[in-house]
Amino acid sequence: MKPDEKPNLRDQFGRTIEYLRLSVTDRCDLRCFYCIPEGFTDFQEPKNWLNFDEIELVVRAFTELGTHRVRITGGEPLVRKNLDQLAKRLASLPGLNDLSLSSNGTRLQKMATKLVDSGVSRINVSLDSLNPERYKEITKGKLSKVIDGLLAAKAAGLAPIKINTVLMKGINETEISDLIEFCMLHHFTLRFIETMPLGDTGRAATDYYFDLSQLRKKLEKEYQLIPDINTGGGPAKYWRTPDNNFSIGFITPLSQHFCETCNRVRLSVDGTLYMCLGQEHNVELRPLLRDGISLEELKIVIQDAIQLKPERHFFNENPSQLVRG
Ligand code: SAM
Repeated sequence: MKPDEKPNLRDQFGRTIEYLRLSVTDRCDLRCFYCIPEGFTDFQEPKNWLNFDEIELVVRAFTELGTHRVRITGGEPLVRKNLDQLAKRLASLPGLNDLSLSSNGTRLQKMATKLVDSGVSRINVSLDSLNPERYKEITKGKLSKVIDGLLAAKAAGLAPIKINTVLMKGINETEISDLIEFCMLHHFTLRFIETMPLGDTGRAATDYYFDLSQLRKKLEKEYQLIPDINTGGGPAKYWRTPDNNFSIGFITPLSQHFCETCNRVRLSVDGTLYMCLGQEHNVELRPLLRDGISLEELKIVIQDAIQLKPERHFFNENPSQLVRG
């Protein structure tokens, strides 16, 4: 590399990996029917969880290779003890300039200020219904906790706050305008997501598949939406109202896949680095970390791993391919 050249992780299809999704737990305090089946207990044992030192070393290696954005996720990341301490360690890594979090919101009321103080700047919160009974049917959880959490996040200054709604035919499709009004009122960005065939439960949920491309056309007319140049750097495509007060995103892995611009890889709680959400290509980092791998060696392992990143997922052609939930 030339002295003035910035490091970057490039895969064999020319895509630059600038985003790491970091799962800090596979546990969750909700049971969304399309995500984890009720009664599921086959979680990773704590001894297999990467500890904070191990996570920090992996993230440091990524940042030194040019990956400057990290999203903490799970499971539900806020069920991992002392998560704010981990966030603080990651936020202070020199190459990291965007630390975000995806949460179901149930513990945000308690954690929002701590997260901001630790260096988390923005969050995505899952919210599939504004109706307490329906919310309970979908998630087995209590809606008021999430609403309180969202208000606490807003008050703590997390911004933008993006609401992720998995839209499902016959389940929550009647709530589209309520969700839009709610997000407009609070200045939250709303993102609708298509169900994906992830694991057995996810495959069952595709019975409720809702094609978002039709909905987008309808909402474009209704709210005079115009395409938003602010892409957010991920798979969502955004539209906004002409007054710029409301932005809405559509995540359409099935109707319009976005693999050609995929810029991310995923680290699971047990230290497995997955190259694609919809495929099994992976490298296990935990044994290397527990064998005392150095930072420089780890960077080489990561660079080699990125070359395994497949060109695209096959959710449409082969929805039963992925066994991982
Ligand atoms: N607990 C965190 C949260 O709620 O954001 C992070 C993990 S959760 C698995 C991440 C997102 O994936 C949530 O918005 C959830 O609704 C979505 N999700 C889970 N299973 C899905 C599926 N089969 N299809 C589409 N989205 C799914």
